[in-house]
Amino acid sequence: MSSNQKIYEGKAKILYTTDDPEILLTYFKDDATAFNAQKKGTITGKGKINCTISSYIFKLLEAQSIPTHFIDCPASDKMRVQRVTILPIEVIVRNIAAGSLCRQTGLTEGTILKFPLVEYCYKNDSLQDPLLTRDRLLLLELATPEQLEQIRTFAVKINDILINFFNQCQITLVDFKIEFGLDKHKNLILADEISPDSCRLWDQSQTDPNQRVMDKDRFRRDLGNVETAYQQVLERILAHKG
Ligand code: 5GP
Repeated sequence: MSSNQKIYEGKAKILYTTDDPEILLTYFKDDATAFNAQKKGTITGKGKINCTISSYIFKLLEAQSIPTHFIDCPASDKMRVQRVTILPIEVIVRNIAAGSLCRQTGLTEGTILKFPLVEYCYKNDSLQDPLLTRDRLLLLELATPEQLEQIRTFAVKINDILINFFNQCQITLVDFKIEFGLDKHKNLILADEISPDSCRLWDQSQTDPNQRVMDKDRFRRDLGNVETAYQQVLERILAHKG
């Protein structure tokens, strides 16, 4: 396969081929979208920040036996990743009520959940990523029962690792979205990214519900200082001495 061919462009990233058919190059864009791309903008420096944060987190997870697609970072906004077939499922883990959980259940934002809530959404823009039941997910054959079991086990373990890690950065992990892929041997691999675009992160030194937001909700809710918040997450992660 020839290298540097664009094979996919999403809202926040572009995927290119490389000389090795099993390796892809991800370019992280500064483009930001929300509400199924109805709101569009740019967060200056976001590509580099998200690529650097994601790389750090993937390495952290790999060190704790979570298989990820991460290989290395040839530049601060580029990540080489193992080629996988992405499952069309957004796996969401929540520790504190926010966002669609509040809208759909009436729970008050900030309510601490009695247990980590693992949810699945259908990654399908034209259907607006609807929440799936386990049976719908199996009916649509988006994953096998065994894969779903493994996804859940990984999701809970990733949550445990990340809660602890972000706590050490004085950041509360409210919720996050992850995606998985299958490699050529059908092994389940954590893919996509883990960054302030895909997590809700609250600054533990702030109590004000707007001031504490360090993630894409600043862009979604027009809270301002989006770049500064992303930069602060990066700085706290890089200053972290595990
Ligand atoms: P909610 O369902 O409350 O909108 O989102 C739950 C969590 O998943 C939040 O951390 C949010 O950022 C993340 N999330 C949900 N959908 C998407 C998506 O399509 N893209 C990204 N990057 N994150 C998402």
